[in-house]
Amino acid sequence: MGKILIFGHQNPDTDSIISSIVMAYFERKFGNDVEACRQGAINKETEFVLNRLNIQAPTLINDVEDGTEVILVDHANIKESVPNLDNAIILKIIDHHNVALNTSYPLYYRAEPVGCTQTVMYKLFRENNIEIDKTIATLMVSAIISDTLLFKSPTCTKEDVEVAKKLSEIAGIDIEEYGMELLKAGTDLSSFTIDEILNLDAKEKLLKDKSAIIAQVNTASIDDVLKMKAELEEGIRKIIKEKSLDIFMFVITDIVNSTSKAIVLGNSATIAERAYNEKIVDNLIELKGVVSRKKQIVPIMTENA
Ligand code: MG
Ligand code: MG
Ligand code: MG
Repeated sequence: MGKILIFGHQNPDTDSIISSIVMAYFERKFGNDVEACRQGAINKETEFVLNRLNIQAPTLINDVEDGTEVILVDHANIKESVPNLDNAIILKIIDHHNVALNTSYPLYYRAEPVGCTQTVMYKLFRENNIEIDKTIATLMVSAIISDTLLFKSPTCTKEDVEVAKKLSEIAGIDIEEYGMELLKAGTDLSSFTIDEILNLDAKEKLLKDKSAIIAQVNTASIDDVLKMKAELEEGIRKIIKEKSLDIFMFVITDIVNSTSKAIVLGNSATIAERAYNEKIVDNLIELKGVVSRKKQIVPIMTENA
């Protein structure tokens, strides 16, 4: 048997990358032969954490071979996983999303409706009496800060805050100061092409019978990102055509003021107008107070599709 591969979702965010590293560390404590993997490029926010700790990025994979044993972290969705997932053997899933896959065999499944996979991982460490050292604590708290936008996202629970606090003590960081530095690192889009920006944190979603991509970027200035509006729109139109999408929503989230605007294109763009009771003007819609795709976009867009 080859190594057990551990990976998060496609277009990996900080939680997906960190979850694969931390879960690999956890599994090795039990003597399991595992490899931390990733399905896509590292974003600037994740790079900030890995550089600070001098940790290598997980191994890039595009797919897995038949019969590969895998552990999924930060996703439980067949559409966000490797193409050949059906022919792999899922040993475990550690997650904080809805379940969107089936297996014909039993597996270890641990998911909780919290703001970050690392809040669940923290419990696994505690339940198994495995020590969390400074490096692991820094990784874990970084993922919680990222997923909860420094506790400002409606996905954030009391548990996320409590766990992050404990981890920040082990990590020896000031959570507010470090957190802002981390989030700001993620807003640097300067080295990416338009296609890469559109893909950085894009998720394919089915809004009832409408096929959608909802992509998101964090910024300290929405206007700054909108300087690229024409190019972004051109890139979005290309993706809509290639993937026969009904709607593409590019959400630009202001992490300082916790609000968003979105570029919305596609034949079903008006779903967004109904969902938010706002007009789309010049392909742009105001999403007041919206920061979470999971809680404030996908459900309400589905309802109005
Ligand atoms: Mg994620
Ligand atoms: Mg997550
Ligand atoms: Mg996210």
